[in-house]
Amino acid sequence: MNAVAPGPVYTLMVAVGVLTDEARQRTVPLGQRDPPDRRRRLQRRSAHEHGNHRDPANNLSRPPSRTSTERHVRMSLTVHTLELGRAAADSTFFVRHRVPGTLVSAPVHGYLILGGDAPIVVDTGFRNDDVMARVGLHPELRDENSMEAQLDRYGVSIDEVGMVIQTHLHVDHAGHIDKFPTTTPVVVNRAEMEFAASGLQGLGYAPEDLKHMIDRTHAPDAVRWLDLELTGPVSVAPGVRCEHAGGHTDGSLVVYVDTEHGPAAICGDILYDIEDQVITGLMQNGFLEPQVSNNFSGSLRGETAAIKKVLNNATFVLPGHDIGAKVENGQVIGRVEGLTVPGPVIALPSPGASREVSLNS
Ligand SMILES: [Zn+2]
Repeated sequence: MNAVAPGPVYTLMVAVGVLTDEARQRTVPLGQRDPPDRRRRLQRRSAHEHGNHRDPANNLSRPPSRTSTERHVRMSLTVHTLELGRAAADSTFFVRHRVPGTLVSAPVHGYLILGGDAPIVVDTGFRNDDVMARVGLHPELRDENSMEAQLDRYGVSIDEVGMVIQTHLHVDHAGHIDKFPTTTPVVVNRAEMEFAASGLQGLGYAPEDLKHMIDRTHAPDAVRWLDLELTGPVSVAPGVRCEHAGGHTDGSLVVYVDTEHGPAAICGDILYDIEDQVITGLMQNGFLEPQVSNNFSGSLRGETAAIKKVLNNATFVLPGHDIGAKVENGQVIGRVEGLTVPGPVIALPSPGASREVSLNS
């Protein structure tokens, strides 16, 4: 667990108690935008974000400094899968209308975005077996699934990560936020935190994770709150923007990442199983009508639309518990092979082929 820096009230009390002539000269003039502490933090962060890190996918090191124009022109982001464990549940948990009674194991993915100013992590997996067992999920967590080990595969350390984005805060996605120092901002849609704290989904949100988020909320600059339902999409880094998902949980967001082959949508759990929900469209009759999961907080129509939205706005769809897909004109045309996007894709025999089989069998 990371120690949380003293809150503003504590800092103010200390400042008042020991105000010396030297300290008075350092006090912030009225109306100045950033107090010195905040400026120092931002400067530290900026310096940190410009540090080198290795990118094993390209075997390249970033140059130490570039102008913003150069950075924009050269921006070519890659998305790498973090294998943060596995979780098993009854088949019907993942996809509506599946026949119950079979335990299905699914991967737990986080993602690492490289090629920008600093590495960005999206989702952090689950913290231990216990939190998963509480909600009836059967976990599988090995040493190599730790956040440290997964980042190390790409030559990145926890301290080098410039930002963490949470698609949502469920127990299998928010488990290692507390491994990141409070100097690393965590991007969360505010509606997700409100929903998590509401108790509507009980232990689907681990109290350990939520308590850390409360602590983090009171640490300076440790959380970047989004209000995506009201603001629309928000760019959080060059080539990286967050958009309200409209599915799975009240505050879920989708992270769109600009790659040289088109946008990749890291879509959390609005989609569990691409084969049964999108390619086959299990028990659906309408053309290209996706099937929903059995784990959502809103309406059936909203859940369906959330899936369609990413299919229509991305070239790559990267869910939290399945391998990714390549998409064209709202249809899946291939599955991602390997852990990196852009990267090799295995083409489907023909778009909609599986669906025809399904409907005729
Ligand atoms: Zn999940």
